Amino acid sequence: MAGRRVAFTSRAAGSGGAARSGAPASASSAAGEPDATGAGASAATAAAAERSAEPGRPSGPVVLVDWDGVDPAYLEAHLDGCAPVLAGLMRSGAHAVMECTYKSVSNPNRASTATGARPAVHRNTAYVLDPATGKARGQTRAMRAETLAEALRRQGRTVLSAGWYIVEDRGTAYGDPEALYTQGRTWEENVDSVVSALRGDPVDSGGTPVRLPRVPDLIAAYSADIDTIGHREGPRSPRIPERLRGLDAGLGRIVAEVRRVGLLGRTTFVFVSDHGMTGYTRSLEPEVLGAIAGAGFTAERLYSGRTPAPATEVVLTATPRAANAYLRGPAAAPDGRARLLRALCSLDELEAVHTREGLDALGAAPEEGDLALEARPPYAFVDPDALDGTERGGHASLREGRAPLALSGAAVRARARLLAPGVIDVAPTVCRLLGAAPPAHAQGRVLEEALVPRR
Ligand SMILES: [Zn+2]
Repeated sequence: MAGRRVAFTSRAAGSGGAARSGAPASASSAAGEPDATGAGASAATAAAAERSAEPGRPSGPVVLVDWDGVDPAYLEAHLDGCAPVLAGLMRSGAHAVMECTYKSVSNPNRASTATGARPAVHRNTAYVLDPATGKARGQTRAMRAETLAEALRRQGRTVLSAGWYIVEDRGTAYGDPEALYTQGRTWEENVDSVVSALRGDPVDSGGTPVRLPRVPDLIAAYSADIDTIGHREGPRSPRIPERLRGLDAGLGRIVAEVRRVGLLGRTTFVFVSDHGMTGYTRSLEPEVLGAIAGAGFTAERLYSGRTPAPATEVVLTATPRAANAYLRGPAAAPDGRARLLRALCSLDELEAVHTREGLDALGAAPEEGDLALEARPPYAFVDPDALDGTERGGHASLREGRAPLALSGAAVRARARLLAPGVIDVAPTVCRLLGAAPPAHAQGRVLEEALVPRR
């Protein structure tokens, strides 16, 4: 395995057709941890082993690792140098760049990861004009679809979420030993929670130690760090490879502990992110507002918490890389709409303009409005006065709607080729790995092409 560079430019990499190789040996060796052989296996491990008899599937657990805002290009550039454990998991399993849902913002996409559904179904939206309040708003955690954690609980499986916030009170909760939520202040503290659960030690859940009945079937762990750095310093920040190194060290601790408690041969690792990141240095708001005025309409760029003036004909909400337009009065009439569309499409600063029909085809929620406008780099929808020439990062457009996915371990065929996977395929695949039916509203599919066939 050594020496084969993991490619991220294609949607899927690997030769396919290789036989199952079992444990991700390169990952554990890369982590530099001693190879304990289960001599110190805990009571929790023994309990998990008792449940391993069901034919046709590994006994689990599934370890879902979600690092926010990892652009596929980051791994293209830094995987080998900064993330040897993740590289090992990728090389020993299957990996690809997966398609996100629209808009490529964290909570809508993490909701898609958690429910297996697109925003048109789960209805988690962000940076939109909320029809319920008439105000612009940012992100929420509201979802109208069953989550992965809820689906697994309904089917008798157990869950630990170490900071994977999208299932907090949506299938996991503080203090619940069967479906525990815990929120570390750092990735390292989330890793501590996972390690404690694997060892059978109490897990700190909001200050209360909770002893789990066994190793949870699904263990999810989250970090926001790469996204945070990408926003503040842009995608070329040297702190991104530096922090990837730190996150990977935590992943190495998880893999080493799985091995130490004797579960490596039955554990499947699923690595995901939620969107990419694009740098920007300039605002296109003056040009967009000018084009709308030139088409004969009044416009208003609305920030979260604000209500548009009643007479405004084009209301714009935005997060740096994309804006939503809500058309009213003459702007909503067919000829007005066509005039507005012509004016917007003539702007070089816009990379794409999606109509409502286009948004529907993407599975976007109705809250996304009548039009979605996407900025061409280095432009973004930001207050021009807030820019100082320093590059910052943002996401939301189709350009950032791609994220890394890797599957590795017990149930995964080595070097299998993934066929155009998406974030909506993650939850159905995790459920399948645990012998469970997918979440109730899932639209994605089980990534069977990467899995060891069922007997
Ligand atoms: Zn972000």
